[in-house]
Amino acid sequence: MASKQQYVQLNDGHLIPALGYGTYIPKEVPKSLVLEGTKLAIDAGFRHIDSAYVYQVEEEVGQAIQSKIADGTVKREDMFYTSKLWCNSHRPELVEPALKKSLKKVGLDYVDLYLIHYPIALKPGEDLVPTDEHGKLIIDSVDLCVVWEAMEKCKDAGLARSIGVSNFNRRQLEMILNKPGLKHKPVCNQIECHPYFNQSKLLNFCKTNDIILVAYGALGTQRDKQWVDQSSPVLLADPVLGEIAKKHKRSPALVALRYQLQRGVVPLAQSLKEKEIRENIQVFEFQLTSEDMKVIDGLDRNLRYLPAHQHIGAKALNKNGVTTIQFHTLMFGIYCSA
Ligand code: NAP
Repeated sequence: MASKQQYVQLNDGHLIPALGYGTYIPKEVPKSLVLEGTKLAIDAGFRHIDSAYVYQVEEEVGQAIQSKIADGTVKREDMFYTSKLWCNSHRPELVEPALKKSLKKVGLDYVDLYLIHYPIALKPGEDLVPTDEHGKLIIDSVDLCVVWEAMEKCKDAGLARSIGVSNFNRRQLEMILNKPGLKHKPVCNQIECHPYFNQSKLLNFCKTNDIILVAYGALGTQRDKQWVDQSSPVLLADPVLGEIAKKHKRSPALVALRYQLQRGVVPLAQSLKEKEIRENIQVFEFQLTSEDMKVIDGLDRNLRYLPAHQHIGAKALNKNGVTTIQFHTLMFGIYCSA
């Protein structure tokens, strides 16, 4: 089946499909559902699959991609696979081995995009979330510029076609962009971004620097009880989005995704349901008016669904832009709460 995707050019010349399929699932969801979901996504026309070492589903995602290559639906070169460097592998000598571990799990020779998942380093080792005897995270001190140089080597070695970052604020991006001897610019910054948190300032900064903004939580996140405040408003139930959706005879989900495409953002969309997956790829079939875009811009209310991530992007207190305490809040919020 021909791809229904459109593409956006990255600053290194490669193309990224303009809509991605997200593969993060909460721990209690069986991993086999991601295998099935990824196959459904490829069947529906998705060519961009977003994953990460820390999601612990790269084997299942890889099996899905391999099976769709084996049955002739796609070729490897049609697919765009993203993985991310976890925080316990920031030391420069650990970066390439970490990427090779992901490649082995997913069963590919190269990733299309490799991202620094967070601008923070954790103690190296097998533990994804290393803690001390008091249960506090053990932070490692690694200069982001040094991590970036190791990422550049992965690109030069052909293990990653493109390299970028995730959860970086402006100051952290500037650290990389202003690094003496910078060889490759980050092609993207993957961050939380949706109509309630439209990131217009960071988007403008990224555009000025030819960096693509990739949006996660573009549909209002999975509202995982562990880390999303359940009293926060449900994005897809927003009445204004609902009105615009009705006018276009589309769903609020499609409007939220289309909004990102039309402002030059590459949105990710996660779903394990066939109906939703097939619906989301229809984002290329309609257009919002400039008035719709303005109205949706007006929905911004500075609402992060994943407040745990907030501290990374907020105060720039140590050389990598975060404090140890803030990172404790972050990591416990995401991975350690019962
Ligand atoms: P999301 O894509 O914002 O939202 C996913 C939820 O939206 C689904 O669980 C689904 O809920 C609902 N949905 C999807 N399509 C729909 C449709 N057509 N109609 C109605 N509802 C629909 O969630 P996300 O997982 O937070 O973000 C997407 C991806 O971004 C992740 O999977 C991951 O790959 C990436 N991510 C990256 C980071 C990072 O730090 N870099 C952080 C978070 C996420 P129901 O199934 O209940 O309908």
